[in-house]
Formats: sequence, C-alpha cells, structure tokens
Amino acid sequence: MPAHPHELVARMQPHQASIFGEMSALATEVGAVNLGQGFPDTDGPEELKRIAIACIENGEGNQYPPAHGMPVLRQAIADHQRDWYGLHPDPDHGVCVATGASEALVASVLAFVEPGDEVIVLEPYFDLYVAAISLAGATRVTVPLLAPEPGSGEPFRLDRAALTDAITDRTRMVIVNTPHNPTGAVLDSVDLSHIARVAIDNDLLVLSDEAYEHQFFEPARHVPIAGLPGMWERTITVGSGGKSFSFTGWKVGWASGPAELIGPVRVIRQHLSYVSSGPFQPAIAAGLRLPRSYFTDLAASMRERRDLMSTGLARLGFEVIPSQGTYFITTDVRSVGYSSGRQFCRELPRGAGAGVVAIPIAALADDRDRFDPFVRWTFGKSESVLEEALRRLTAAVG
Ligand SMILES: *Cc1c(COP(=O)(O)O)cnc(C)c1O
Repeated sequence: MPAHPHELVARMQPHQASIFGEMSALATEVGAVNLGQGFPDTDGPEELKRIAIACIENGEGNQYPPAHGMPVLRQAIADHQRDWYGLHPDPDHGVCVATGASEALVASVLAFVEPGDEVIVLEPYFDLYVAAISLAGATRVTVPLLAPEPGSGEPFRLDRAALTDAITDRTRMVIVNTPHNPTGAVLDSVDLSHIARVAIDNDLLVLSDEAYEHQFFEPARHVPIAGLPGMWERTITVGSGGKSFSFTGWKVGWASGPAELIGPVRVIRQHLSYVSSGPFQPAIAAGLRLPRSYFTDLAASMRERRDLMSTGLARLGFEVIPSQGTYFITTDVRSVGYSSGRQFCRELPRGAGAGVVAIPIAALADDRDRFDPFVRWTFGKSESVLEEALRRLTAAVG
C-alpha cells in the first residue's frame, strides 16, 4: 500500500525525473546551447513530409488505422529487414507497428517479463529500459560497458565476464542496444557473439534496440543480433522511424521477429496506445524504401558532425572516447580538471560565458561512481550550433 492514496506507485517512484527533461529545462532557463537531448534540429526528407500531408488530405490514416500497423508499412518493414539484413519477418504476423521504438520496447518487456524476473541491461542505459522493467515489476541487473584506457582510441566495450556472471535462474531477457546510446559504441562481432552464446545457453530472450541502425561510422558496422546463428527465434528487433528519418515527433516505430514473439508484443501494445500516427505510417513506409544513398548520406552527414565535435572537444583538452555510431560522443571530464561529470554538467550551463548543456552519464547508470567522469554530448545538430557550443566551451575550459 502506498503511504498516501494519491502517491505514485512505489515501483515507479525512482523514475519520476528524467535527466533529459531536467537538462533541457535548464538549457531553456539559462539560454544554453542544448547538446543534451538527442534530437536533430533539421527535419528529414521533404518527400516524406509530402506523403504525410497528402495522406491527411486524402483521408488515409485520419481514422484508426489497423491495430498492428498499416499493411503498407508492415510490408516495408519486412522488406527492409530482408534487403538490409537478410532477415525474414512475416509482414502479417512478425511485425508490430508502435508509437515509436519506445512503445515497442515497453510492450516487449511487458509481454514476456513476469514480476520477480530479472532483466539484464547494459549500463549506461537508455532510461526507458529501466522504467519498463520496473513497470513489469521485475528486477534489473546491469552489466557495464567498460571505458577504454585513456588515450587508447578504443571505444566502450561490453564486460563479457560480467554478463556471464549476471545470469541467474530468474533471468528472462537481455536488452541490447547497438549502436549504443549514450556511449556511441557499436558492439562488435565478439561482443554480439558472446551475448548470443549466453542467451542460447540460458534460453533467454533478447530485446535488441536498433533505433540507430543507420547511424554508424565505418569501419564500424551495424549487425542485427537476430541474424546470428540460433538467435532469430529468441530475438525481438526494434526500429525507429523517428531516428532513421529525422522525424522524432512522428513517433512511428516497430518491433519485428518471429510470429511467436511478435504475437504477445501485439497483445500488450494494442492495450497501450491501440493505434497511432496514421498518416505518418505511409510516409515512413516510403522512407524505408528510399535508395541506399539516403541512408549512407545520413551516416556521412552525422560523421562530419562527429568529426567536428570530436576534434573540437579534443582541442579543448577533453579526453574523447571515439563515437562509432548514434549522434552521441562521450568525454572524460577528468581531462579538463573535473572529477565529476554531474558537477561539470551542473556548472557548465551557467559558467563563464559557457552556456552549454550536456548529459552526465552517471544519471544513466546504477554504478554512478564508475561512470561519474563521463559526459555525453549530442552532435546531431547543425554545424553552426556545434560551432557555437565549441566557442562557448573555449570560454569555459579553454
Ligand atoms: C530515441 C531512442 C528510442 C526511442 O525512439 P522513438 O522512436 O522516438 O520512440 C529508443 N531507443 C534509443 C536508444 C533511443 O535513443
């Protein structure tokens, strides 16, 4: 029983504040450049907008669309999985359209995780995973990504031994995210194979958040874990139209996989939002069928901005941990005379002409001491915004 009848349920009490909301509010309050929350400041392809507008005008999707997604979008998702990754979800039974990747992720956890089960998440984590696990009444078990040796030029890497050690007879699911938010790491084949081995040996489900599937930088490459031997039947793969097409406000996402896993996800999802984003679904379907050059151009443009941020931060004296994907890059603030990223992020927006907001990675981890030196910056903004942020940072730490 809660202490007071109007009180938030106990299991969600730890999830009241969002670091992203908090830091964005601070950015607005002090007029800081917001490199905290990760959303692009320019819209996606004009032709997709035209399709959504035409749908509204033609009455396509203005009323409840089919509960699990319009056939045109389910087919496009299935074809995209086949053409890019050689995976074969059944468009009629193996795809579930959702209100963003967010809803697909929450529905997947709620569909398979019983109260008291354990769910493994990599840490630092995307905060929605831990809220979803608490919603399910389950327990999260974190497995760290290991920070590289300073100056090694290596990215964050999975602590493989910690994953093996984290398994108990209550473990039900592992939530994987690659390309990884917040660190910008792309899990390599050694790490992915290890996760697959552990999942198969212990008969676990894998929920693979691939919201940044098209935002990786060569030589890193995105490999869906569902394609590894023995993994198809135990993996739910999640994608985001918001991230892949720079329309984060449209909230079109999806889960795909074997019909046996997608069926239960559909049951939960239909009782959450029932349906959403009607006129945007045909637009995202067209997006998924864009020529490969669209996706490589997206990654190339992100890469340019990554290089701008990475070089700029390094010039200011930051130890920069290479970003292999997403639109995030991590720095170690010990290199500029701070010991705590949380303190750094609190002071930076108000600091001497600084006015830049970043996210302390410790806010996205249970082991806060381990991740306290690290700060996440988004580079998914226009070059002029990034240059302004770097100029302000020069005043703060230069
Ligand atoms: C943005 C994001 C999501 C949510 O995607 P939506 O389609 O906006 O719901 C999920 N996972 C990660 C890692 C993200 O960064």
